[in-house]
Amino acid sequence: MDGPEFRDRTPRHSSARTTWRVTRGLAAAAVIAGAAFLAAGYIYGDPRFAGLFEVSRGAGAGTAVPSEPGRPASAQAVRTDTPPAGFEEQDEPLGRPQKPAAASSSYRFLAMNDDGTPVGYSPCRPLHFVVNAALAPEGAARLVEDAIGTISRATGITFVDDGATAEAPSQSRIPYQPAVYGERWAPLLIAWTTPDQAPQLKGPVIGTGGSTHFSFGAGPKSFVTGSLELDAPQIAEDLSRKDGAAYATAVILHELGHVMGLEHVDDPVQLMYPEIGAPDGLAAGDRNGLYELGKAQCRKDL
Ligand SMILES: [Zn+2]
Repeated sequence: MDGPEFRDRTPRHSSARTTWRVTRGLAAAAVIAGAAFLAAGYIYGDPRFAGLFEVSRGAGAGTAVPSEPGRPASAQAVRTDTPPAGFEEQDEPLGRPQKPAAASSSYRFLAMNDDGTPVGYSPCRPLHFVVNAALAPEGAARLVEDAIGTISRATGITFVDDGATAEAPSQSRIPYQPAVYGERWAPLLIAWTTPDQAPQLKGPVIGTGGSTHFSFGAGPKSFVTGSLELDAPQIAEDLSRKDGAAYATAVILHELGHVMGLEHVDDPVQLMYPEIGAPDGLAAGDRNGLYELGKAQCRKDL
């Protein structure tokens, strides 16, 4: 793979994003009744799957060309909307996904390639993340850390904590922000926020998560960055309740599942079911889906 091969192709970015909802009234009533989560039927209402949408980042066909590492391409060919290709990309996956203990086909993917493989992150480079924790509830950092550890083991993806960020969540987040994060794809943004700051959290929505994929024209897609927005006041309220940490962890894991590329399923046993049952963490279908995502192709070309 080299730069010139792509000169006449148009890079495209797409966002695969879903939201996870909870009906707050029912949740509160259930806690008052002292019921278990499963019996209480915490309801994540209609999943609002926005579908895939294409966002053209270039000024036109053939103008946005990634340069090769260490070799700046010509000013005419290179635009600043993609980083130098292959940042931190190794020859082999950095880790291996954990083989699920039980087989299950109860999973779906947010985006697919033409060859039938799911769109995921390159396992040959670390996935950096930053946290906007200004509004994070007490104890939330530990929950995020644990959830990321769980997802990392399930996918084999290596996560790197780049620390705190002041970046605010945005529904049109730019995937390459060299002034903020240097010449690489922007890290995954985990933002503790509010419905005022992130309007998609208004109403019953408690969190949103998704990733942006990149391709050269009709070529294979890979996720290059993503974001996760968490309704801080709502989760803080949950954390004050019995089993609140398990519930909050389930929300974070569910949203990270979307970030990695999982879509909702109709199977209520799975964490990717849009209504939460018992907050037991990843189930067999979730694990098998994440295992498949961990086998995504490496991408030295982007
Ligand atoms: Zn969801």
